[in-house]
Amino acid sequence: MSKVIGIDLGTTNSCVSVMENGTPVIIPSSSGSHTTPSVVAFTKNGERLVGESARRQAVTNPDRTISSVKRYMGTDWSIRIDGKEYKPQTISAMILGQLKKDAEEFLGEEVTEAVITVPAYFNDVQRQATKDAGRIAGLQVKRIINEPTSAALSYGLDHGEPQKVMVYDLGGGTFDVSVIEIGDDVIEVLATAGNNHLGGDDFDARIRDWLVEQAKVKCHADVSRDAAAMKRIAEAAESAKKTLSSNESANISLPYLTQVRGEPVHLDVDLSRSRFESLVGDLIDKTAGPVQSALMDAGISPSELGRVLLVGGSTRIPAVQRKVRELTGKEPSRNINPDECVANGAAILGSTLQRDRFLPAEASKELLLLDVTPMTLSIETVGGVATCLIERNTTLPAKYSQIFTTAAPFQKTVEIHVLQGERPMAKDNKTIGKFKLKGIKAAPAGVPKIEVTFDIDTNGILKVSAKDLNSGKEQSITITADDRMSDEEIEQAIRDASSYAAYDQTRREAVTLLNESQMLLSKTDQAVKAAGKGLDKSLKKQIKASSNDLRRLTAKCRLEKVTDQELEEIRQAKSQLEELSARI
Ligand code: AMP
Repeated sequence: MSKVIGIDLGTTNSCVSVMENGTPVIIPSSSGSHTTPSVVAFTKNGERLVGESARRQAVTNPDRTISSVKRYMGTDWSIRIDGKEYKPQTISAMILGQLKKDAEEFLGEEVTEAVITVPAYFNDVQRQATKDAGRIAGLQVKRIINEPTSAALSYGLDHGEPQKVMVYDLGGGTFDVSVIEIGDDVIEVLATAGNNHLGGDDFDARIRDWLVEQAKVKCHADVSRDAAAMKRIAEAAESAKKTLSSNESANISLPYLTQVRGEPVHLDVDLSRSRFESLVGDLIDKTAGPVQSALMDAGISPSELGRVLLVGGSTRIPAVQRKVRELTGKEPSRNINPDECVANGAAILGSTLQRDRFLPAEASKELLLLDVTPMTLSIETVGGVATCLIERNTTLPAKYSQIFTTAAPFQKTVEIHVLQGERPMAKDNKTIGKFKLKGIKAAPAGVPKIEVTFDIDTNGILKVSAKDLNSGKEQSITITADDRMSDEEIEQAIRDASSYAAYDQTRREAVTLLNESQMLLSKTDQAVKAAGKGLDKSLKKQIKASSNDLRRLTAKCRLEKVTDQELEEIRQAKSQLEELSARI
């Protein structure tokens, strides 16, 4: 029985965890780190890099490197590289594929099932896109859960006393805050709010700008157009920020940063914690609004909160912790690694789902997770009005029906225009689906009864159906927003992913074969020389011809285009030379 892994698919970093002997364990990446940068790159020679190796070359290969793809999930964004178009789902699938591979190496077995987390603010289309990415990566996604819900699971709060908890999650690129109610075996998200364009990357950018300014003032150098210098500045900025979480001051030393009139420029500055706090103070202040609106939506005051949990690497910053204290009047809990708790919670849920699959229904004690709809769901009615069917922050799963009618006499068709958003007019909200109900029984305007039903499952995925109660005609959709991938597109992406795996394998074999061939050629040359005149003439002739053959084949082999047939030819030439060489 293979294990279900828990994946925190983050904007900046991703993390994967699995349950081992009843405890969640973080799976190290191939570079030994507990998180994997969510970065994918395509090198000029057709190689695909994922994670740390992709992040390291990002500045020198910006057009072919994709970072923060999570920001584009559920949109029609795409990128064309070497004539091939990549959607956000496909790029995310590459990150998931890497995590799956790391997990398989760690566990020594195939992994096919996962629980993946998403920000509480993700809409239906973004959730569906995340599920599709999992499918492309060869993972059956057992559940999509909100990141804050997952964090609460990892804190083990589901086993403690019933209470209301705030989860304050400030990562690299997104900020989420949720108010959660924890009861016996039930975790209910009462309200969520956030800003999905706020995080540690913005803090880094402020330090980067400050360093560019320092280089100008202290060294009269404009480094902003020097890509290599900016890469070093970016790395130094993030590293200084992390240092300042535990030290009062960080020294930033960048020798030979750039050149001014042929002279090297060395930048050496100290950044104090208070200076850093003044650089990012307004950004930290921006987290106050969502905190207050989540409390208001949950209908509670800060004093009713049992605990406040910190999630995301950026909550290590002392000024952020101070802000949380100031906003909630509570000392935040920090006993769990903030970068890892989301993945750990997903692994805990994954193992619960797996265990319960083997229990009889009455014994099943699946932890009930009650998430909420992050935005209001409505349909367009007469006059372009958005008529709400499911309100924001409704507990999931949810189902709601309402009867509508026609606006024109003898109308045979109605269009159901499904919207998501808080605005009163349809045009100001996001269209997440549209379909037509045809064959309505002819009647004067206002007579037909058309029942529209919204049904959202525990993953937050919406199914909308419309039924003419007179004719019994029914039509339904499960989100058909243009920016969602079609099933054919997903199938194509799955095929691409597996053909890429085969291509990778071929290239790996080619590298080994070319290396072995080179070694064989030089060993044979040496052996021929050492044998000198004592070597049989006809054997020497055969060896020469066979070596030339192998040399010619390996020289013309191009890694990025190598075919199986070429490899077979090299293999045969190599084994022929091996035989001859053994006879020397
Ligand atoms: P996450 O998305 O949760 O992995 O958080 C990543 C963000 O946390 C990045 O912007 C990191 O630079 C930041 N981060 C990680 N460790 C620290 C630290 N010790 N102090 C400040 N920020 C940190």
